[in-house]
Amino acid sequence: MALTIDLSGKTALVTGASRGIGAAIAKGLAEAGADVVGIGTSIETGSADLKAEIENAGVRFTPINCDLASREQISGLVERLTRDQVQIDILVNNAGIIRRTEAASHAVEDWDAVMAVNLDAAFLLSRDLGGKMVERGSGKIINIASVLSFQGGILVPGYAAAKGALAQLTRSFANEWASKGVNVNAVAPGYIATDNTAALQADEKRIADLMARVPAGRWGTPEDIAGPVTFLASNHANFIHGAVLPADGGWLAR
Ligand code: NAP
Repeated sequence: MALTIDLSGKTALVTGASRGIGAAIAKGLAEAGADVVGIGTSIETGSADLKAEIENAGVRFTPINCDLASREQISGLVERLTRDQVQIDILVNNAGIIRRTEAASHAVEDWDAVMAVNLDAAFLLSRDLGGKMVERGSGKIINIASVLSFQGGILVPGYAAAKGALAQLTRSFANEWASKGVNVNAVAPGYIATDNTAALQADEKRIADLMARVPAGRWGTPEDIAGPVTFLASNHANFIHGAVLPADGGWLAR
């Protein structure tokens, strides 16, 4: 089997595609030939460069605004895709937010916001779009977990809880759908230089502490995550189910 990744004829929906890891994933899938539906809160107006880069790969890019903190908007998104007869073959649940505070003062609003975007949205989109994949007997779902799916982190109780649960959601869906032609897996990034880690990147001491513990000795790039996601979206990953694949420069191995 040639190790070429060819996703032509497929359509991928990537949440949080406007920037950071999601934008790199959208470009990676496009370079492999997939049309891309990109979701963000304001991606329709803010994605001219991304649109050009994706369309340069010769595929279609459809940006759709949807606030994934809103269950109504998620239902509206699914209804719109159904109405427009857009078949989603690859779903990447990437959108995520982080709220850093001490556990004793972690506001319930922060907890709810993180759970809604990082966990509830992934459940709802997997159930609704993945359910259609099951009906067709094929599809790929890739959740963007975190090394904090395995570890508790520091000052991020809601985020670590949501990412731990996302890994379990991945395994739960995989167990049911593996025999129905749908692969459900996750990629667990380590420390990647994006807006999500801006606070860490600004803290010289945390940078030194973190990098001393990363065997690869560097921050990851969004492209370091796009590669494993594109692989999991391909036929080369047909026998991989329920994996939570670290892409972390060796952080979890240490
Ligand atoms: P980022 O640069 O902050 O980008 C977050 C993305 O999520 C944006 O495209 C944003 O879109 C979207 N988003 C946020 N809230 C949304 C909402 N309510 N509705 C719709 N879209 C929303 O983050 P990132 O670092 O690329 O992170 C991407 C994923 O990787 C997240 O799940 C994160 O937890 C995970 N991760 C990141 C790291 C890291 O070190 N960076 C490590 C482990 C895991 P808009 O701007 O259009 O709203």
